[in-house]
Amino acid sequence: MLIVQKFGGSSVADAQRIKRVAGIVADTYKNGNDVVVVLSAPGDMTDDLIEKAAEINPGASRRELDMLLSTGEQQSVALCAMALESIGIPAVSMTGWQAGIQTTGQYGNARIRSINSERLLSELDRKRVILVAGFQGTTSFYDITTIGRGGSDTTAVALAAALKADVCQIFTDVDGVYTADPRIVPEASKLDEITYDEMLELASMGAKVLHNRSVEMARKYSVKLEVRSSFTNKPGTIVKENVKMEETRISGIAKDSDIARIALVGLRDEPGVAFKVFRLMAAQNINVDIILQSIGRENSKDISFTVHKGDLKPAENALLTEKESIGFASLDVSSTLCKVSIVGAGMINSSGVAASMFEALYDANVNIHMISTSEIKVSVLIDDVNAEIAMKAIHRKFFGD
Ligand code: ASP
Ligand code: MG
Repeated sequence: MLIVQKFGGSSVADAQRIKRVAGIVADTYKNGNDVVVVLSAPGDMTDDLIEKAAEINPGASRRELDMLLSTGEQQSVALCAMALESIGIPAVSMTGWQAGIQTTGQYGNARIRSINSERLLSELDRKRVILVAGFQGTTSFYDITTIGRGGSDTTAVALAAALKADVCQIFTDVDGVYTADPRIVPEASKLDEITYDEMLELASMGAKVLHNRSVEMARKYSVKLEVRSSFTNKPGTIVKENVKMEETRISGIAKDSDIARIALVGLRDEPGVAFKVFRLMAAQNINVDIILQSIGRENSKDISFTVHKGDLKPAENALLTEKESIGFASLDVSSTLCKVSIVGAGMINSSGVAASMFEALYDANVNIHMISTSEIKVSVLIDDVNAEIAMKAIHRKFFGD
């Protein structure tokens, strides 16, 4: 088999851990597999480098920042190659460029354009383990780029797709994807399998196990993903297109606290009002999530919507500046809310899923401010202070005690 294995920063944080990673890789290799390893920068190195840059020049150009940040991952791959050498496993480390990873030119947030796998394939032919620096590539002019924070997952999936790997294993500090965050819901259990779509919904809602773009890419190229722990030897969670759905109506519950609500009260009840509001948000590059328009009264209506917490002030300022032209009576904001969602491909074929969720919330005496749904997700906006009890109640409802 051809296996891509990715290890995150905490798995390569010190010499001991790098040796442990080398041990896992060596076992995989000795079992007769071709192995490509993708590593993140050790520990908090990326953050530390960003800080260091800011000390010298807070306005440093993105090109130079990428030049600097790419060095973290290079340290990891070189050190890990040395660890493999020391236990007799032939290994070669590579930068993104050496691995043939070409990206677009947006420094700091480049997209992988193509992978020229010639060199990779010839090293695999020579039975070497290849260690590729994650999170980086080069432009067509050979300038070094990085592909966005947390991007090593995406590097791994891109390589797995290009090399048609049998599986892409993402080793991390949790042993898989859970029905809910076990720190909040202790009864949460590990899922054996989950679909790409479910994983995307869970990831974008704060189950921060995998970089979203990596899951999108895995779905696009049908790369089988496995999320597993680098600290235990247990099987993790497989992410793939279809899973056996044994009566499970939902796969997981997620919470997103990075949310704020804006309510515009007393808007004119005429065409174009929503357009004006959301065109303004789009012009400020503000992402809007749940939108609710209420019937209102006497030629007026209200619109509420949610944004990321960090976008609240800019959104509020923009709206107040345009108060006259949009035409609303008042604006009300709240940032003490959170979004709790249930996700499950199984809900497409079963009825009453939303009702069960609302019943759990009713039993727990939790008030719902807003609701939104998609084919495989139901989200509610509730007070932040209720998050924990809501998640526990919903979990009990769907998964029992
Ligand atoms: N080291 C990079 C970061 O911290 C990339 C990664 O870890 O995936 O964002
Ligand atoms: Mg990560």
